[in-house]
Amino acid sequence: MNPTHLTPIDRPTLSLPDGHTRLLLHSCCAPCSGEVMEAITASGIDYTIFFYNPNIHPVKEYELRKQENIRFAEKHGVPFVDADYDTDTWFSRARGLENEPERGIRCTMCFDMRFVRTALYAHENGFAVISSSLGISRWKDMNQINDCGHRAAAHYPGIQYWDYNWRKGGGAARMVEISKREQFYQQEYCGCVYSLRDANRHRRETGRERIKLGVLYYGDGTSKQGDAD
Ligand code: SF4
Repeated sequence: MNPTHLTPIDRPTLSLPDGHTRLLLHSCCAPCSGEVMEAITASGIDYTIFFYNPNIHPVKEYELRKQENIRFAEKHGVPFVDADYDTDTWFSRARGLENEPERGIRCTMCFDMRFVRTALYAHENGFAVISSSLGISRWKDMNQINDCGHRAAAHYPGIQYWDYNWRKGGGAARMVEISKREQFYQQEYCGCVYSLRDANRHRRETGRERIKLGVLYYGDGTSKQGDAD
């Protein structure tokens, strides 16, 4: 990894728990993982991105988010694992939870599913530590995410979830700065069809247009304070 292209930022040097040296980082999207990746890279930690997000709907939005993440991983020379898009499994688990609010039990299911698969890959590929970029978003419940992460890691002996708070020390602000610098695609809803439905319902009630996929990019003049960042 070449650190010369990193923004010079005064961050604490991070270290993985219990002296471990390799990390499998579940990534939900480029905007959330940008700061997380740069913080980890700046600390010299050996890591791999694991992109497993079958919640994202529709496939056009899934591809937009994934390709942005691949672009940034390639820029940093970070290995990128493109995992399954097994939407049938996700929808079958979401059955009966369609009208749950964000941060409710549908989201617990969604985090559990993504983190258990991350832990399985870690178990099969020699990673002792997993973490996720999901917790950096101000829209998420960090305790809910950490509970899901620890529960997923407990499925496999020797795997632990690193519950580092990526928001602290200016991390949340740098997430937006990096997104603008990189002109990342700016998603406007959490990801699933139900979050898209609810975001559009809120827009209708407040006199705004429906979400248009593939239109907003940070830092190019189309960016605004997002509904999902
Ligand atoms: S709102 Fe977000 S976290 Fe919750 S179920 Fe939908 S995609 Fe998953």
